[in-house]
Amino acid sequence: MPELSATEGQLPVDGPLRLTPEGLYCVPAQAWIDPWRPVARALLTHAHADHARPGSQAYWASEPSEGVLRHRLGANLPLTTVPYGATLKLGDARVSFHSAGHVLGSAQILIEAAGERWLISGDYKRDSDPSCAPFTPLQADVLISEATFGLPVYQWAPGHRVAREIVDWWRQDPPVPSVLFCYAFGKAQRILAELHALGVREEVLLHGAIEGLMDAYRARGVPMGATRPLSALPKGESLAGRLVLAPPSAMGTPWMRRFPMARTAFASGWMAVRGVRRRRGVGRGFVLSDHADWPSLVRTIRESGAQRVYLTHGQGDPLARYLTEVEGMAVQVLRRGEPGAWTREEGDGEERERSSATLAEVAHG
Ligand SMILES: [Zn+2]
Repeated sequence: MPELSATEGQLPVDGPLRLTPEGLYCVPAQAWIDPWRPVARALLTHAHADHARPGSQAYWASEPSEGVLRHRLGANLPLTTVPYGATLKLGDARVSFHSAGHVLGSAQILIEAAGERWLISGDYKRDSDPSCAPFTPLQADVLISEATFGLPVYQWAPGHRVAREIVDWWRQDPPVPSVLFCYAFGKAQRILAELHALGVREEVLLHGAIEGLMDAYRARGVPMGATRPLSALPKGESLAGRLVLAPPSAMGTPWMRRFPMARTAFASGWMAVRGVRRRRGVGRGFVLSDHADWPSLVRTIRESGAQRVYLTHGQGDPLARYLTEVEGMAVQVLRRGEPGAWTREEGDGEERERSSATLAEVAHG
């Protein structure tokens, strides 16, 4: 069990949302949001593995998330899609999905019930990303916000600037293969879209785990350049000077034998922490995150106008303390002791790395 902190909070017993063993439950809609276990009705914020799990009887999600969700949870998924901003009547609640700017199809979920507006942010970011719709600012009475990067040390440079650094790294001499590790869903496509926006026209080679998601992105019209799965390349063809994108799970596996001379790098928000970078054993770290950084978390929570705020996912305590003591807001951290419950270890994005970035490491850069 994690130790309790001064900022620990619980949802009010008379509100529309409850924490149950299956996850966050909306009483008037009789539906769970990103449930941890199979349920009758699931409302999904996005298709990352720590939010979208198989086995539920019925799913609702944003319309742009359909392709990725079906790729990951099955073509016959019992899924109803809802366009961003459209309102759905579920039981005694009005439910709507609004862009979260995190990955393709990611949504904030707004619940309107008994005269109150409850907003569940899901994962979100405020930085521009050519691979998904931008974040939609919303107002609510109560906000449940993620806090994956809830420390002031996390402040991101714009994605196009990081993409320029990636190009310079890739094109340096000697022209060996450049293997860039990045999460397969979201980060890889964001990098491809940023490279395309910079005018890069060379073909980029992809690990199979990334290739599998490309159809869903291309079907949504996300502008990306030419790509090819590495497996489709003729045997013996030189990889000198080529850029290859691969998921972190490929590090240290036999797959890497194809690149004995490669330079390697990892693109993630966690690359801001030297200890994580060192443990990953890559030559270079690019700080590029699909989550809100500290200034964006503070700004988003402030601009929501919420009278009550609950934080989930990650480093909520310092953020709760700051918002309470400096900004005078009513902010608490929601926590569950169960594995998989907002602990993020089973995520497939930057969530996975959280446990490896200790506060001490962050404090010492
Ligand atoms: Zn996510």
